[in-house]
Amino acid sequence: MSHAHAYGAPSPTEPLVPLQIDRREVGPSDVLLDIRFCGICHSDIHHCRGEWGRVPYPDVPGHEIAGVVSAVGENVTKHVVGDRVGVGCMVNSCRECENCQKGDEQYCLPGNTQTYGSVDRDGTVTRGGYSTHVVVDEDFVVRIPDGMALDVAAPLLCAGITTYSPLRHWGAGPGTAVAIVGLGGLGHMAVKIAKALGAEVTVLSQSLRKQDDGLRLGADDLFATSDPQTFDKLAGRFDLIINTVSAELDISAFLRLLRTDGALVNVGAPAEPLPVAVFPLLLQRRTFAGSAIGSIRETQEMLDFCAEHGIAAEIEVIPAAEINQAWERVLASDVRYRFVIDTSTLGD
Ligand code: NAP
Ligand code: ZN
Ligand code: ZN
Repeated sequence: MSHAHAYGAPSPTEPLVPLQIDRREVGPSDVLLDIRFCGICHSDIHHCRGEWGRVPYPDVPGHEIAGVVSAVGENVTKHVVGDRVGVGCMVNSCRECENCQKGDEQYCLPGNTQTYGSVDRDGTVTRGGYSTHVVVDEDFVVRIPDGMALDVAAPLLCAGITTYSPLRHWGAGPGTAVAIVGLGGLGHMAVKIAKALGAEVTVLSQSLRKQDDGLRLGADDLFATSDPQTFDKLAGRFDLIINTVSAELDISAFLRLLRTDGALVNVGAPAEPLPVAVFPLLLQRRTFAGSAIGSIRETQEMLDFCAEHGIAAEIEVIPAAEINQAWERVLASDVRYRFVIDTSTLGD
């Protein structure tokens, strides 16, 4: 067992505070990671505040982890000391179910082991990347491509893969029109990846305040959803809409923006149900779907794709002492476009 400096929530209603946490011994198939940077995902906030259900407090969030391998177990073959690596939203799965067998461990039928707030194989509760180091099974550790800095790579481990996976699954590419709802952490990666895949990309943001940024990130257009005319202008326009919004949204209004056979894929994860009118779905055979992160194989593919296309996250690096303030800015849709914690400041 070793100790790590960390930041975590003691309860759903208190701010995050500095903590010391235990990490397990490096087992035969484990990798010890010195965490250098960890992105702040909106899921960290939903989870710590208990919006998604019961949480084993103190809750140490963080699943956009980038670091360097500092020790490996005796059976490890995929990573060596000194490798630049990442860990995303899951750290294990059953490995036996139908989905694990086909390499879709994010959809592990008994449930994958999440990077924080899950019960691990050894019965301990997992704690996330707002910490100085972590021990993870080698199969859930991915390689960060040479030339990609660790700070801008960190957000790819969740925001990158969560948008890459549905964009690929629903065929975003040349000749397709894709809309991204919400220009935050996930949204800005969705814009970059959809553009790199060759799609025509439109951002649907609450206002025109992020218009310049949206175009600079690669979007062809940005429309304000606060303007009712947007919904008339864009009716029947898109093959695919990726909704990254963390709050309730009028899904039926967005469904009408799809072409016949188009799909609206929800990756945003508000706790409350999203009511959906049936007519916009059935009249044009449209689909309303969801998607969760991506597999480990796909995460590596996404990292290599981003390196090849010279894309990574737009970030604001912060010291640990500013985490609570950063959360408030995320909640106010004022993130440009991902906060990343410099974990060397955790022990300060
Ligand atoms: P984020 O950085 O806060 O971005 C969300 C964006 O949604 C905001 O920047 C804002 O964009 C828009 N928005 C926020 N509140 C809104 C409201 N009330 N009405 C309309 N638009 C609103 O969050 P994120 O880290 O990208 O995460 C987004 C959501 O995805 C969260 O719910 C998170 O838990 C979820 N998530 C899911 C998965 C998965 O596997 N499915 C993985 C990661 C995250 P504009 O200012 O442009 O309007
Ligand atoms: Zn996340
Ligand atoms: Zn499984």
